[in-house]
Amino acid sequence: MTEKEIPAIGIDLGTTNSCVAIYINGRAEIIANDVGERTTPSYVGFKEEEIVVGKTAKLQAHRNYGNTIFDVKRLIGKRYNDKIVQEDIRNWPFTVVNKNGNPELKIKLKNKEVFYCPEQISAIILNKLKEVASNRAEASVTKAVITVPAYFNDSQRHATKDAGKLAGLEVLRLLNEPTAAAIAYALDKSSENCKNALIFDLGGGTFDVSIIQFENRHVTVKAIDGDSHLGGDDFDNRLLDYFVEVIKERFDYDIKEQRRALARLRSACENAKRMLSFQALTQLELDALIDGEDFDAEISRAKFEDLCEDLFQKALDTVRNCVDQSGLQPNEIDDIVLVGGSTRIPRVRELLQEFFDGKHLSNSINPDEAVALGAAIQAANLCSNECQTVEDFVLEDVVPLSLGVETAGGLMNVIIKRNTLLPAVATKCYTTAKDDQPSVNIKIYEGERSLTKDNNLLGELKVTGILPAPAGIPRIDETFYVDENGILSVTATERSSGKSLNLDIHLDKGRLSAEEIRRILQEAELSREQDERYWKIIEAKNELEAYCNRMLRLIPNINMSSPHHYYISEKCKDILLKMRTSKYEDENYLLQKIEDLQVECEAILELYADQEYEEVEN
Ligand code: AMP
Repeated sequence: MTEKEIPAIGIDLGTTNSCVAIYINGRAEIIANDVGERTTPSYVGFKEEEIVVGKTAKLQAHRNYGNTIFDVKRLIGKRYNDKIVQEDIRNWPFTVVNKNGNPELKIKLKNKEVFYCPEQISAIILNKLKEVASNRAEASVTKAVITVPAYFNDSQRHATKDAGKLAGLEVLRLLNEPTAAAIAYALDKSSENCKNALIFDLGGGTFDVSIIQFENRHVTVKAIDGDSHLGGDDFDNRLLDYFVEVIKERFDYDIKEQRRALARLRSACENAKRMLSFQALTQLELDALIDGEDFDAEISRAKFEDLCEDLFQKALDTVRNCVDQSGLQPNEIDDIVLVGGSTRIPRVRELLQEFFDGKHLSNSINPDEAVALGAAIQAANLCSNECQTVEDFVLEDVVPLSLGVETAGGLMNVIIKRNTLLPAVATKCYTTAKDDQPSVNIKIYEGERSLTKDNNLLGELKVTGILPAPAGIPRIDETFYVDENGILSVTATERSSGKSLNLDIHLDKGRLSAEEIRRILQEAELSREQDERYWKIIEAKNELEAYCNRMLRLIPNINMSSPHHYYISEKCKDILLKMRTSKYEDENYLLQKIEDLQVECEAILELYADQEYEEVEN
């Protein structure tokens, strides 16, 4: 395959599970991972000798709870002091530390402590998916469309892009998850009669709603809304809190103090939640959970619904808002498309159906796979000139959150309104508040609240060198530009001096600088080299061990002289013993050892070459 023909991939980088798809032979297909599964848990486990990813990491999480990272999507692009980050930290069995205001994961191995930023953890997951895809494509895949929740803010988007870079991927586009699902849906035959669809995407950590219009292969996002912190994990937490209290009452014991037991209880809660989507009652059975004592309990669907009702209502409020924003009436929505594992919860479906007057909820796309499929189609579309032609469609997405600047009194002055079509550009003119003011500080925010203190500060831009003039005379044009990825850049032009600052906003907040990305990549290269060395040593050890064992199996079948027999057998046994007791850590030494042994053994065997003997398999 030439480089031009290597397909780009679509990656759904989920909070709980991730999924990768490729557009190949004229259609998008999900790629199964190395254990044959179509989704990969977003788990990374650090062990002494290796880093495990996906199911292997999830399976060892109970034993290695402090060094197994999950939910990293909840951290990416966020500040350490973020209220929600602080809440999450209390529930996680791993350690998050404050590094210059940004969260970092602390991994404790036998001899050292290592720190990873969330982007690096996501990069490890992305890298795994890239590998899986490269195996399928039989070529090294380097280009991808990665999906993000529509409600991801600017820092979260930047951080996700950085994670892609760290994984050695050229991120062709960040695509909103519901939009990706809509693409998969739009190109599905069952959507032929649908004009307006509401995509309801409730996953493990995030919730997105989008209203999409399909017209003549034009996919237009009419409105998006959502909550970057609402999903299955929150329902698990409600169950977890409930059982923590049950245990307190029953055993007078605070399980929150025991991280390992808490991790087991959490996983049992998630299981119970899943069961309750299909049955009215389920059991939790955890052997030796509390100081050797078993914990058994049951929970009903009604109780679960009661524990989570406010969260479900919150999701419904978001749907209501989104429909309002789109300018459509609920009865103008033709299809309601469910995406994300948490849409299997019956109460969620019930509330949604009630809101839309009993309308049928569409299950025609696989909720776990639609996002990755849509991303793969978009990836192929973006490089269709290079690789292959893909079903043609035009996609128009929107700005997820209003963007603006702070004006006097801490007011949010919106420059680009949310739900404006992408790419979006707008300019507003500002002036000074005092006479002869030499500079102004522009604070850039995103959010829907009228006071900036309630919105998210993206960064600050200082315009200096304004010529002396009375207040209100200088003119400063601020131009906001949001690209197709939903990423913002700001330019400020001071008219009196004619000086254009042309500054992209460089927000240090929760971002990796180009320098940091370079450093991390260098470190990754170093550890990749270390890993390769390690594997080469293992391979050489295996080869040496296999050769010794082969000789030991072979010589009893040859009628050879006792000294020769003794020599080979002692030599091989000695090597095997040494391999067990001492550390052969030098690949070259091992390779030399193999060669020497082979030369000696072959020379002796040569003497008995006329004998007919066969190797005996163990
Ligand atoms: P996603 O991020 O879309 O893979 O969604 C994963 C979330 O869906 C996790 O919180 C799962 O616990 C949840 N989930 C998966 N299956 C079910 C189910 N049958 N009932 C309730 N929640 C589920």
